[in-house]
Amino acid sequence: MIRIVDLYKKYRDTVALEGLNLHVKTGEFFGYLGPNGAGKTTTVKILTTLARPTSGTALIKGIDIIKNPIEAKKHTGVVPQAINLDMELTAWENLQIHGLLYNMNKKFMRQQADYLLAFVGLDKHRYRLVKNYSGGMKRRLMIARALLHKPEVIFLDEPTVGLDPTVRRQLWGLLKKINQEGATIFLTTHYIEEAENLCERVGIIDRGKLIALDKPKSLIASAGKIVVDVLEDDQLTSYFFTTRKEAGDFVAGLDLPATVRNANLEDVFVKLTGRRVKE
Ligand code: ADP
Repeated sequence: MIRIVDLYKKYRDTVALEGLNLHVKTGEFFGYLGPNGAGKTTTVKILTTLARPTSGTALIKGIDIIKNPIEAKKHTGVVPQAINLDMELTAWENLQIHGLLYNMNKKFMRQQADYLLAFVGLDKHRYRLVKNYSGGMKRRLMIARALLHKPEVIFLDEPTVGLDPTVRRQLWGLLKKINQEGATIFLTTHYIEEAENLCERVGIIDRGKLIALDKPKSLIASAGKIVVDVLEDDQLTSYFFTTRKEAGDFVAGLDLPATVRNANLEDVFVKLTGRRVKE
């Protein structure tokens, strides 16, 4: 569904993307995980034709986004990081404007809007001004809007930033449902838990380069499934083991405070870069 080929993006002194190659399968729930400044938004902007790469290209459903941006755009929906709804309009009006921009048939637009407002749980609030919506409601409306023209692939750029944990989990449920209904999902996040919970495969990006790509479980297994955190002089160091037995033997030989836990994607990142995702 998405094929990224040798993508580079430079902004004056900053290299935001440095030779990115990536293939996302049809129907996949793909996670694009990396710290702030890694190049996630730049990738999404290029794939949704909002920014031009310095070199390289990408194909959406085989359509070159540089040569044929308008055609490629028809197949994609995007939920950008910043809330870009019209606050002085109702949810229904916001959807109508999107339908007009995509030159949608009016009847189809109304059917889709009815279906999607119910799907994201905003049916009863369709005639309220968006400025009176909560943060979670605004996100859900942005998702409905991104799906309105029935794209096969949907890009979500950090969709749960700023939402409280309960609302975040509700949104996860919604995204899973969208994927189950057949859409390919490309989700950027710097939340480890989000990538682990939702994504079939995760690409880890750091400083414009893809540094790992696999199923979350496989990535974690490759780092070592069990972690022992050892505290020495206020410094926490993590050691990786394949089995609990090995970890237990290591702890038994220690004279320092230590905790044994399962590894996660943060550990994968730390092992590969020596830094933390959240830094
Ligand atoms: P992420 O989404 O992973 O936080 P971004 O793609 O926003 O990362 O940014 C990647 C790098 O490119 C960062 O170093 C950022 O400062 C830089 N960058 C992004 N947009 C611009 C811009 N419009 N002008 C200059 N530098 C930019």
